Amino acid sequence: MQFRSTRSNDPQVSFKDAVLRCLPDDGGLYVPSMVMDLRQFFLYMDTDTRYPELTAALAPALLQGELNPFSASRVAESAFNFEPELIQLDENFSLLKLDNGPTGVFKDFGIAFIAAVLEELLKNNSQAMILSAVRGDTGVSLSHAFHKRKGICSVMLYPSGPIRGLDPRTFVPAGGNVIPIQIRGTFDECQRLVNETILDRPFAERYGITSASTINPGRLLPQVFYFLYAFVKLKKSLRGELFFSVPSGNFGNLIAGLYAWKFGMPVNGFIAAMNSNNAFGDFFHGKEFVSHRPVSTNSPALDVGSPSNYERLAAFYDEAPAVMRNMVYPESIDDAATEAAITRVWKQYNILIDPHTAVAFAAAEKRFSSGSIGENGHTVILATGHPAKEANLVSKCTGQPVKIPGKLAMLQKKADPIAVIDPQIDALQSAIVSCF
Ligand SMILES: *Cc1c(COP(=O)(O)O)cnc(C)c1O
Repeated sequence: MQFRSTRSNDPQVSFKDAVLRCLPDDGGLYVPSMVMDLRQFFLYMDTDTRYPELTAALAPALLQGELNPFSASRVAESAFNFEPELIQLDENFSLLKLDNGPTGVFKDFGIAFIAAVLEELLKNNSQAMILSAVRGDTGVSLSHAFHKRKGICSVMLYPSGPIRGLDPRTFVPAGGNVIPIQIRGTFDECQRLVNETILDRPFAERYGITSASTINPGRLLPQVFYFLYAFVKLKKSLRGELFFSVPSGNFGNLIAGLYAWKFGMPVNGFIAAMNSNNAFGDFFHGKEFVSHRPVSTNSPALDVGSPSNYERLAAFYDEAPAVMRNMVYPESIDDAATEAAITRVWKQYNILIDPHTAVAFAAAEKRFSSGSIGENGHTVILATGHPAKEANLVSKCTGQPVKIPGKLAMLQKKADPIAVIDPQIDALQSAIVSCF
């Protein structure tokens, strides 16, 4: 499969080149350039198929000529020592738990895959530097995924504020391959520095620089696999329509779901579950997209005013606007309804969910009880975060103590960056050069 920019139909590049370049020169984003039919690979797949096996079967089918089945199997087994888990709540609702990775959020899946696939694609003949803007626990996810990967180092740009969860023994000065740098500025400034560095092609090519941020197609693609995984687990028990409810901030998961559909997954629609930041609500109903200033809510990962995947989403709508209006249903859930959903899920099913998952759950219930989803319809709710990461809120809503697993408790430990610099590209470039 080739990749192209959202802004043109050619030139097309290989998966390897798309992953290593990250951004096309024309300012767009890379997307798959064709529709593939994967049905022969997953429709008859055994319900017991483990996640690494499913990935190892689907990745070479998508990336023919670039990743053979043996390499794919090596990549999948080395990426995933954690798996998604599908929990069927009742006839109408399931949870697809994606919080089993090292940092307890679904982002662990894409990051683990891109690290393993890069090591495989580079094998023995070149070096790469992964430059990423990080906040929250993404840096920890990256350092887990890239640590000890041959020929690759991971440079992470942090905004001002404490840095947590990193193990200094993995840093470059200690013989590791992780380089945390603090930028005196905001996350958006870190992101801008990443994009500028990647688009400075001569510099980026000299050091083999790419980014593992969500704009890299190497992170998007593996997210397609867990939608298909949910389908494989459920296919025998489905009696009616199938929907997915996706808590949406930058819309990476929703885009991945839409690709799963394009690649042949039988699905009736996706609920784009937003909190009070619902800048995309109007767009989904056919109006112009206008970015909003984000407001703070109790599901902070969804507080996004200007989603970075906008161009990918717009590309779907440009192709077939009427089809898309029957495929994606926006819902907006406020803080009170989010809390009520955490309480209800605990009372009804004895399961603790985090507020992001609760937004998607409340959105799914809303559509079901309004009759937009039939009596036999089934909705899979993406559980994108671990409840222990929002322990206070979850505890308040359920009256239950929330146990914090050991690996998540470690995320609280403070660490020092190996450099602190101003938000300027030359400062960053000299910091990078001094690492060699
Ligand atoms: C990042 C994140 C989201 C939003 O996902 P997008 O793909 O950006 O829409 C949802 N939930 C949690 C817990 C997250 O960390």
